[in-house]
Amino acid sequence: MKRTSTRLADGREILYYDADDGAARAVPDTRPLDASATSSEVRRDPLLGDAVVIASHRQARTYHPPADACPLCPSTEGRASEIPAPDYDVVVFENRFPSLAGDTGRCEVICFTPDHLTSFAELDEERAALVLAAWTDRTAELSAHAGIRQVYCFENRGAEIGVTLAHPHGQIYAFPFITPRTTRMLATVAAHRARTGGNLFEEVLAAERAEGTRIVLEGEHWTAFVPYAARWPYEVHLHPHRRTADLTTLDDAARAEFPGLYLDLLRRFDRLFGSSAPTPYISAWHQAPVSGEGRADFALHLELFTVRRTADKLKYLAGTESGMEAYMNDVRPEDAAARLREVADR
Ligand SMILES: [Zn+2]
Repeated sequence: MKRTSTRLADGREILYYDADDGAARAVPDTRPLDASATSSEVRRDPLLGDAVVIASHRQARTYHPPADACPLCPSTEGRASEIPAPDYDVVVFENRFPSLAGDTGRCEVICFTPDHLTSFAELDEERAALVLAAWTDRTAELSAHAGIRQVYCFENRGAEIGVTLAHPHGQIYAFPFITPRTTRMLATVAAHRARTGGNLFEEVLAAERAEGTRIVLEGEHWTAFVPYAARWPYEVHLHPHRRTADLTTLDDAARAEFPGLYLDLLRRFDRLFGSSAPTPYISAWHQAPVSGEGRADFALHLELFTVRRTADKLKYLAGTESGMEAYMNDVRPEDAAARLREVADR
């Protein structure tokens, strides 16, 4: 893999990740860009202790541009996008409208392919492996930035969940705090350790593999299952068998097996609802805090879920979920797992 780091016209960093070591990507950005204004602020909810980011400068961000004005396609003669090079494999750059910047962290965009009209599920294994390498590199580098506590790589897919750019891309957030969900997981895991001496992540994975009814697929180094208390109609957790803190410490065997398994899962998601519009999903890497207590007991894993529950119905977070964080799931996790096994490509 070749990594090329350069700067956009307003000073933001852009990094190209190429399979071909001969790729030449250091093309200058000739756009007349002003430095972007950011004014994020992290506040703490006094009752819950949760961090909340107030990012009031983001209201003017690009919203559903036409395909010929896509900022994530490579630049062409006469049309400059966010990516100055005329082609790329995988590219990462600092978000022009970040929720987190400066003292409050960093937001990056990762484009999985220069092809505007495809999706992650349609990539080949080689490209998916390059994306994994880029996620890993970003996790290592951002973890070393002063003040960063947790690195979060994720993809939102589909207009149904608020994606404003159709081009296949994800995001990488470097948080100056440990996210609320991770904080709760760490507390549960620490309490379990204190009470039993065991690791709760390992015990949950072992129990799911032994029980079997919620297993979606098993590789040699990974298992994907629908969690016992799934919150979403179709939700899959993908864990490496050898527990590890984050992507930087994932072993080579698990790394090599990941692209095939992940593409298989995404393709199953796309087959869930027949020939209707592609399944909207959120794919979220859960990684340990970059340092400190709790890191040693954490388990890197990926949570993939869709907000769609039938071909024409979405799951909305309404009164119980948004108001009380009490999820009501209409699909039994065992049925969801059976369905996800049924739509395997055979
Ligand atoms: Zn595009």
